[in-house]
Amino acid sequence: MDKRGTHYSFVPKKRLGQNFLIDSRLLKKIVFHAEILPTEIVLEIGPGFGALTQIIQAKARRVIAIEKDPVLAEFLQEKFKTNPKVEIIMGDVLDQTLPEYDKVVATPPYNISSKLLFQLIQRSYRVIVLTFQKEFADRLVSKPGTKNYGRLTVMINRKTKPKLLENIPKKSFRPQPKVDSVIVKIIPKEYNETVDEKLFSDLVRGLFTQRRRKLRSSLKHYIDKEIPYFPMEILNIEIPDKRVYQMTVEDFEQLTKNLIKVKVL
Ligand code: SAH
Repeated sequence: MDKRGTHYSFVPKKRLGQNFLIDSRLLKKIVFHAEILPTEIVLEIGPGFGALTQIIQAKARRVIAIEKDPVLAEFLQEKFKTNPKVEIIMGDVLDQTLPEYDKVVATPPYNISSKLLFQLIQRSYRVIVLTFQKEFADRLVSKPGTKNYGRLTVMINRKTKPKLLENIPKKSFRPQPKVDSVIVKIIPKEYNETVDEKLFSDLVRGLFTQRRRKLRSSLKHYIDKEIPYFPMEILNIEIPDKRVYQMTVEDFEQLTKNLIKVKVL
């Protein structure tokens, strides 16, 4: 790598989703949307050559950046070695117990979008600003009864409020990816209905395997599979006259509660 920050000898690795965002206006925009305070700790996933890290560290108390590629991680450790605000962790984000953070800001690899997002929202956080592939982001905000509405939508919207902010064209990255991107802002839902988490997520997963079926029939099928007999009590609970993919988050929450009440699962 030379001192102007061009990296002639570096061959980007496709399997690590290495597409580097080179548009400085957009890099600043991503950080801007996170409204970082000087007291806050920011987690960054996949810092690459540190373009975003550089902007974040100017605003935050600390940046903790996790980079899987050892070549890049070493480059960054060297680049920021005199900056006590920046900590570079070499490793796979999915294998880590994450440190505590206030906010997440990143342009992460897209092949881990779903796993990463579920991992990030386990912890308490104020804001997450990430880029995602456009199609993935669309699934986060799709409405019940539409094509993209599914398990991901329900599980994420149960816990968070995702918002699509701004599209990023392919040409803003090097090498250019095949897909368009979008900046997504996620904040935690303030109030969360208390339900049995495991049953909720098992139900959502199970029922969405037959997304177009009527709920009653999909539920019967699901229960037949999960337990060895069909409990008649199930017929007494209130079951919305909807197809699975028309069920709102609240519908799934209510269904979970009703099933717990009749103790069929
Ligand atoms: N944020 C940088 C790089 C984006 S490319 C930029 O915008 O320029 C995605 C980055 O994530 C690469 O640096 C890649 O090496 C890294 N990466 C890929 N998989 C990862 C994983 N599982 N954990 C941590 N980093 C990962």
